[in-house]
Order: sequence, then C-alpha cells, then structure tokens
Amino acid sequence: MEKTLSIIKPDAVKKNVIGKIIDRFESNGLRIAAMKKVQLSQSDAQEFYAIHKSRPFFNDLVTFMVSGPVVVMVLEGLNAVAKNRELMGATNPKEAAAGTIRADFAESIDANAVHGSDSLENAEKEIKFFFAEREIC
Ligand code: ATP
Ligand code: MG
Repeated sequence: MEKTLSIIKPDAVKKNVIGKIIDRFESNGLRIAAMKKVQLSQSDAQEFYAIHKSRPFFNDLVTFMVSGPVVVMVLEGLNAVAKNRELMGATNPKEAAAGTIRADFAESIDANAVHGSDSLENAEKEIKFFFAEREIC
C-alpha cells in the first residue's frame, strides 16, 4: 500500500467537478485517507511548488494555485503514486490520453485540473505539508 497527495486545482473546483474527479480515484481502486478544501496563500503555493522556483512559469503557476480554493487529498492504494499519475494524464491536457482526468476536465497546461505527487519520496513530503498525522485515516 502506498499513499500519495492529490490536489484538485482551482479550475476544476470552479467548474464544480470535485465529485466527478473523486469518482475516478474511487472507481480505480484508490481510497481517500484524508481530504480538505483550502484556500492556499501565496507563500503556501510558493513553498509547495518550490521545486519549480527557477522555471519561467513559476509565477504564473503560483498565481493560478491561489486563484481559488483547492481540494487536497491523501489517496491510498496499491501503487498509489503511479496509479494517480496514470489517472491524471499528461501535464499538458492536449497530450493527455483519452479518458484521463486532464483530457476530460482540463483546458490548458496552466489550468490542468489536478496535481499528483511524482514519487513516493515527494508524496511523503507533500502529505506532511498539508496534513497532521491525526487527519489521515
Ligand atoms: P503537477 O506537479 O501539478 O502534478 P506535473 O507533475 O504533471 O504537474 P510539473 O512538471 O511538476 O508537472 O509542473 C507543475 C505544474 O507547472 C504543471 O501542472 C503545470 O501547470 C505547470 N507547468 C509545467 N510545465 C509548464 C510549461 N512548460 N508551461 C506552463 N506551465 C507549466
Ligand atoms: Mg509535478
């Protein structure tokens, strides 16, 4: 069993498709071990995406992530990190495989509906960033 962090980004929350996205996870063997809706601050978003600090798109990414509330979840299941990434689809929705979350709910590489941890190591860090131990069931 693995745990991974998922974020339903502001574009998808605005579109009111939280439930439809969660259904993709639950229908594909992942369970929700923790969940909350939060408005990220500028410094939250900067810290969370610090790995991309030197990229040209960093400021736009931070601005987008604070543009509205997000839903943050811990997903649990067999190979949860890779499974979540597979269900999400490619970063650019135009390149995302048919039937993936980004192909179905995202508009652009900036507003791409979901975040998912890209490794087990980052999943552990990202989960700690958002959740206290007692919030994860
Ligand atoms: P995320 O980390 O959000 O799950 P990802 O792992 O698929 O997405 P990353 O390479 O980690 O992709 O990039 C983080 C985010 O930065 C992407 O989700 C996307 O919104 C934005 N981004 C990545 N590459 C570009 C780019 N070339 N132009 C604009 N935005 C980008
Ligand atoms: Mg990433």
